[in-house]
Amino acid sequence: MVVIGLGRFGSALARELVNRGTEVLGIDNRPKLVQSLVGQIPHVTTADSTDIEALRQLGVADFHRAVVAIGTDIQASILTTSLLSDLGIPDIWAKAISAQHSNILTRVGAHHVVAPEHDMGERVAHLLTGRILDYVEVDADFAVIKTKPPRDVVGVPLRESRLRSRWGVTVVAVKPQAAIGGQQPGFTHATPDTVLTYGDLILVVGAIDNVERFAATE
Ligand code: ADP
Repeated sequence: MVVIGLGRFGSALARELVNRGTEVLGIDNRPKLVQSLVGQIPHVTTADSTDIEALRQLGVADFHRAVVAIGTDIQASILTTSLLSDLGIPDIWAKAISAQHSNILTRVGAHHVVAPEHDMGERVAHLLTGRILDYVEVDADFAVIKTKPPRDVVGVPLRESRLRSRWGVTVVAVKPQAAIGGQQPGFTHATPDTVLTYGDLILVVGAIDNVERFAATE
């Protein structure tokens, strides 16, 4: 995989991919930055990604997947994405810093656009309201949250707590309070027989409004 633009987002992404055993070619046009990443990303090089010849020489066309992690310089981001598309890369991911930027990236050939600042802002808003400890939106109207159970659902088997009819949510996994910080196993699947304790951590899925209403219940 090729990662172009090794700022905060791109370098974190590339390092994580390397740690997970993925072959990564990192490209940035700042020599000092590239130098500082040599020990962390085995294949990292200085090049201007708006130069198609430079991309060809690096063999970028042979990669199946590329990530354009240039945000601030919108022109370079768009040009790079369109060159990757010209080179026929089958799976192009690009980072956008605004809705307009995102639209243009799609038009010039990005197959997936991510907007980390925008998404993280929304996510933190959810973490700041109610008792939501983690929040992942899996579709426009569906989310998975990590939270603690409200008083009413503690001490009875899940099948009796009427989670679907009262809140429209489902508890899919539980990490018992005793396991938090301890050596015991973490999350395990919830079953209809699971009895929650106040202070357990639970993963709850459902429509966004429903999971939020559930997490706001004392
Ligand atoms: P972040 O917020 O993740 O740090 P930036 O947009 O600030 O994102 O950083 C993008 C990176 O992309 C920078 O390190 C910059 O040097 C690099 N970059 C910008 N233009 C080009 C280009 N034409 N070719 C290669 N790298 C580029």
